[in-house]
Parts: sequence; structure tokens; C-alpha cells
Amino acid sequence: MIDCIFCKIINHEIPADIFYEDENVIAMMDIKPVSRGHVLVIPKKHSNDLLTTDDVTLHHVITKIKEIAIALTKTVNAQGINISTNNGAAAGQAVFHLHFHLIPRFSSDGLVSWPHHDSEPKTRAQLAEEIKKNL
Ligand code: 5GP
Ligand code: ZN
Repeated sequence: MIDCIFCKIINHEIPADIFYEDENVIAMMDIKPVSRGHVLVIPKKHSNDLLTTDDVTLHHVITKIKEIAIALTKTVNAQGINISTNNGAAAGQAVFHLHFHLIPRFSSDGLVSWPHHDSEPKTRAQLAEEIKKNL
């Protein structure tokens, strides 16, 4: 048995503010929200992250994310929503059971977005070629 906090929540061994549950997916409020209404959508089947998750599970999760994102945006009257998943500790992942963050955004919420950097056309083209080879 894996010692996983999200598996324990899924099994109702520890409490959480779960507002949706079906055979494949749960959705709950994040315990330390980035913004008002920060939600986590989680497949019931354990996998560490998106890259190691089977496509059928991903299909279940992404379709439910769309539905919940619409309802959540309406509920908190958000102007936008960030939907993301962290893959690996270097990317900020702390809980190693796949989960998607649904973070409502408001026009003047003051949250910092990704920093963008200038890049060279040659570097971009080279990287695109290398990725293509690995697909
Ligand atoms: P990560 O950094 O792995 O992408 O995100 C983990 C998220 O899970 C964080 O936003 C954190 O606040 C949330 N979290 C961690 N433990 C719990 C918990 O026990 N209950 C709930 N509801 N959220 C949790
Ligand atoms: Zn788990």
C-alpha cells in the first residue's frame, strides 16, 4: 500500500472538502489556496504524475476538469482560470499523486504570471527538431 495523502482522501480516511466524486475522479478545495476557490481535480487511480498516467484516466480527468472549471468560474465570479499540473519536484510538485490545480483568476488579483525570456530563432528551431526526434 502506497503512503499517499491523496489516496487517503480518496478512501475517505482523512477529511477534505470534496464537492464532486464519481467512479474515476474526485474534486476538492485546496487546503492552502492560491486564490479564492482554488480546486484540485484528482483521478482516483494512483499515478505519480501526468507523464506516467494512462490515457483513459487522463480522458476522464480532463473532461471533468472542463465541467468543473465552468462551474467554478461562475461560482466565484472569476474573469479567468489557470489549469495546471506540476510534474516533478523541480516543477514544484509536492504531492506525488496526479492532480490538476484549478486556480480562479481575477483582473486585479496581483498574482505573478510566468516570466518570459527572449530567445534566438536558431535555438528555437534546434529545440523543435530535437523534440520532433523524440516523439
Ligand atoms: P503540488 O505542489 O504537488 O502541485 O500541489 C499540492 C497541493 O495540494 C497544494 O496546493 C497543497 O495546498 C494541496 N494539499 C496538500 N495537502 C493537502 C491536504 O491534505 N488536503 C487538501 N485539500 N489539499 C492539500
Ligand atoms: Zn495516491
